[in-house]
Amino acid sequence: LTELFSKLVEKIRGVEYIDEQTLQEISRELQRSLLKADVPLDMVRAFTDTAVRRIREERPPPGIPVKDFVIYVIYQELVKLLGGEAEPDLKLPKRPYVIMLLGVEGSGKTTTAAKIALFYIKRGLKVGVVETDTIRPAAYDQLKQLAERVGARFYGERDGNDAVGIARRGLEQMKGVDLVLVDTAGRHKNEQSLLEEVKAIYDAIKPDEVMLVVDATVGRQAAAQAEAFMKYVPIHSVAITKMDSTARGGGALAAVAKTGARVKFIGVGEGVDEIEPFSPRKFVARVLGMGDLETLVERVKAVFEEEEVLEELESGRLDLLTFKKQIDALLKLGPLSKVLELLPGTLASKISDEQIELSQKNLRRWRAILSSMTEEELRDPSILNASRIRRIAIGAGVTPKDVKDMLKVYESMKKMSKVLRRQYRLGARGVRLQ
Ligand code: GDP
Ligand code: MG
Repeated sequence: LTELFSKLVEKIRGVEYIDEQTLQEISRELQRSLLKADVPLDMVRAFTDTAVRRIREERPPPGIPVKDFVIYVIYQELVKLLGGEAEPDLKLPKRPYVIMLLGVEGSGKTTTAAKIALFYIKRGLKVGVVETDTIRPAAYDQLKQLAERVGARFYGERDGNDAVGIARRGLEQMKGVDLVLVDTAGRHKNEQSLLEEVKAIYDAIKPDEVMLVVDATVGRQAAAQAEAFMKYVPIHSVAITKMDSTARGGGALAAVAKTGARVKFIGVGEGVDEIEPFSPRKFVARVLGMGDLETLVERVKAVFEEEEVLEELESGRLDLLTFKKQIDALLKLGPLSKVLELLPGTLASKISDEQIELSQKNLRRWRAILSSMTEEELRDPSILNASRIRRIAIGAGVTPKDVKDMLKVYESMKKMSKVLRRQYRLGARGVRLQ
């Protein structure tokens, strides 16, 4: 998918202008890409119709090149196709929270149980897993080993044959655990008896969430799988596995989105840490090769939310007073390294070139330094001479070198803020492509 679309994006950027003929070509190319990803035909049609109509009818915001606008429309429509703007909800509303995983054999349930366990263990929670698959003898050992590897509590019965009883007893063993993942069998004498067992377990333990696990390689067939299970139990969320090993992942995502179920996680490899919360916006941004701009823009907006700061940035004048406000905003924002991680590669590397070490600790030190400056100094940093710097250093409890270092960073920030300002203004208009 990524390959198909990044080619398309390149192509759009490469054309001289967008006329009717180019638009038709883009539309055909889009259709081809989506069909290759196994997106259902009716969805492909609806998608290209809407995209083409919007490109014809809507005008790009002032200052935004038509080409970028075309890509932006495609971006927005792809996000809709894959489930919309909402971000996955990863909070666990109660303790213990019980998730039951179901899906056909080989879809990746057991692996996904271990992956989700690790995902939450890394976030400081106590997690337990329960194996109720009594059909495949190896299932017990598989999940037991994975549980040991990720540090989750395990319950199973090696030669058991009562899946419902195992589920019940398993939950009883999980006192004090924050999250319990109940793994189920994916194969049975026949489909009917599988679905009935799933329903019996569901009725017995009443899990807080039922998560369907689907293998991405089935493409659009994902919808049929979801619908078959939905006849027996409610499906609250979906995990799509093996996104790394097929071009049909987009089709699976779109087909699931159409059933109304929410894709919460995607599996991107065999390793226990190869899982990602699924955000259509970030996914599409990546598919189109746009980096994680979407998230960046939100964070940057938060930094610049204060009107005054924005105004001064607009006027291109970043004095230390503004710098101080920015630092206050940044301290509210959380670790800046996280923000920097979100920058597209080129910009991030520019910043690291300048060797800016923007840790929370630095930010606090700088705030202290800025607090011991006079209003006059904040407005006009050029008056800072050696004796003023010494006085400021003493006032802030730091060395004169610390003050000078901060001034250097301020100069870099001044440069960087120009870039961020550009990003912000594009973001504010709803278009952040360049
Ligand atoms: P289950 O029968 O539904 O429990 O499926 P398993 O968890 O046993 O997984 C079946 C196979 O798919 C195993 O070989 C897994 O390593 C593999 N698998 C699961 N998730 C992923 C994934 O995201 N990417 C890849 N490449 N393989 C996966
Ligand atoms: Mg299994």
